[in-house]
Amino acid sequence: MKHLRPLRKYFWKYRWLFLLGILFVVLTNYFRILAPQLTGYVVNTVVHSVKGNTAAAAEKNYDVLVKAIISWYGQSNHNKILLAGITLLVLAVISGFFMFLMRQTIIVMSRHIEYNQKNEIFNHYQQLDTSFYKTHSTGDLMNRIAEDVSRVRMYTGPAIMYFINLAAVIGFSVFFMFKANPKLTLVALAPLPVLAIAIYFVNTVINKKSERIQALLSDLTTNAQESYSGIRVIKSYVQENAMFGFFKNNSEAYRQNALGLAKTEAIYFPSMALLIGLSTLITIMVGSLDVINKAPGANVGMIVEFVVYIQMLTFPVSAIGWTASMIQRAITSQKRINEFLLTEPEIKNEAQTVTPQLQGNINFANVDFTYPHTGINAVKNFSLQINKGDKVAIVGRTGSGKSTLAQLMLHMYNPQQGIITYDGVPVNKIDLQHLREQISYVPQDVFLFSESVSNNIRFGLQDATQQQIETAAKQASVHTEIERFEEKYNTMIGERGVTLSGGQKQRISIARALIKNPQVVVFDDCLSAVDARTEKEIIENLYRYLENKTAIIITHRIFSLFQFDKIIVLDEGKIVEQGTHETLIAQNGIYAEMYNLQQVQDN
Ligand code: ADP
Ligand code: MG
Repeated sequence: MKHLRPLRKYFWKYRWLFLLGILFVVLTNYFRILAPQLTGYVVNTVVHSVKGNTAAAAEKNYDVLVKAIISWYGQSNHNKILLAGITLLVLAVISGFFMFLMRQTIIVMSRHIEYNQKNEIFNHYQQLDTSFYKTHSTGDLMNRIAEDVSRVRMYTGPAIMYFINLAAVIGFSVFFMFKANPKLTLVALAPLPVLAIAIYFVNTVINKKSERIQALLSDLTTNAQESYSGIRVIKSYVQENAMFGFFKNNSEAYRQNALGLAKTEAIYFPSMALLIGLSTLITIMVGSLDVINKAPGANVGMIVEFVVYIQMLTFPVSAIGWTASMIQRAITSQKRINEFLLTEPEIKNEAQTVTPQLQGNINFANVDFTYPHTGINAVKNFSLQINKGDKVAIVGRTGSGKSTLAQLMLHMYNPQQGIITYDGVPVNKIDLQHLREQISYVPQDVFLFSESVSNNIRFGLQDATQQQIETAAKQASVHTEIERFEEKYNTMIGERGVTLSGGQKQRISIARALIKNPQVVVFDDCLSAVDARTEKEIIENLYRYLENKTAIIITHRIFSLFQFDKIIVLDEGKIVEQGTHETLIAQNGIYAEMYNLQQVQDN
């Protein structure tokens, strides 16, 4: 249970709703518990009238309210039965009303808790480092925020409600049963613990089977989804039949398991009915023998009263097993949620951070970085001085460590050795948000939201005007293409919107970075899918845009049109050459080789 401790704060937050809920549970059960007594009274009235007696006395053990109601009925047996019928109906309505309120408080509380918990988890996810996302699959993250949270809700809502309900039902009915006839009470209650335990075990089996089915279903969905999104590859490789066979296998496994579950459930309900029936049967037999033997206090009305009690007890008692397995699942789920909530981001603000305005002087001093979970030494003893307003190109083959440098500049990782400074201030002393806000970063792998074009560009500057959005789009040389879309800037991107080409995506993501208009710009290979003519156009635009800014342009292509102040050639995490375009060509090394190769390819 200690895993559920993080939920306490929520119960405390919604304590009034919770207390009110408990009150309603008690009230709904109080009004329900009067019905068996009244029913017993009706039966006794009938028995008496058959014998020719006029009055059936109210049992001395009845609840005060029941006694008061009965005394108000008058003498006629006909009236008594009619009025008792109406009373039963009224009691049922009152009890039902409180039951409505009980669900409206406790289930509503659980929905509030669910909402809070989802937000808490989502917010925590966002604080975690990119490396956390590398080691946990998206599916896992989704599961914890969706599936696990809803299992915890089954505990904070239904499980707790049924548990309190059970306590109230047992409390009230056992109290009145014992008052009326202790012996019959023991007889009637004897089979119920067996029922509770049996249901608990069967439920555990059902849950295990359902989980297996859930997993199979998720395989099936993934399978189907991949076939739809990969349909072009499947068709061109003529693999339709193979894919179908694969799907059919998964589908068959799912069917087998679903049939197994259906069988277990089919056994479950009749067995439950059997146990409940047993309890009723024993009560009637023992009670009847007592009546025949004229045992003190035994009468037909009481047998009926007890049978109604048993009926009232069966649902809550069967809910014990059910509740217990719900709580168990909630514990497992909350444990999984806690695992993530207790994960601290490795990169976070130190106690004392500063918020300087970045001028654009950047220095790397002997920076060495190894990816923690793979042990790949991506950057080796890297030193570089970049001055305010410098335009620096970082060139190198795939895997040479270029993107890693960009990540380090944004303080997504801490280097194991060396230090990166902005205007002399170490990067880990600068407030994280403040730092990232002041750098325009275009990542290598473009990601756009399923939103309109303008909202995607506005992501870089929340209160941007349409004018600013268009200017940014023009600077990124994508404006004319957006204008050609039917809904222009309101065109939706993504699955339900237009399909953009790789180059268009890259340029929209450049526009998103440009609109921020900060002092430092980091472009990570963001022109790779752009054709040569557009590349030239963007570079001309960028020239003007970048005039007073510091720019680090990472690329595996060489932009000979752009006058870089410094070109760094990276290989296996180390600087192998540096200089300007002219000096590097003159050196006739890796850079010159790359350049010549590119010239051949372009022509
Ligand atoms: P480039 O951008 O020049 O292609 P990267 O900086 O992406 O190079 O990669 C440098 C090296 O680090 C490669 O060997 C790559 O496999 C590895 N690497 C890149 N990103 C990660 C990561 N998130 N986790 C582990 N290893 C990585
Ligand atoms: Mg890269």
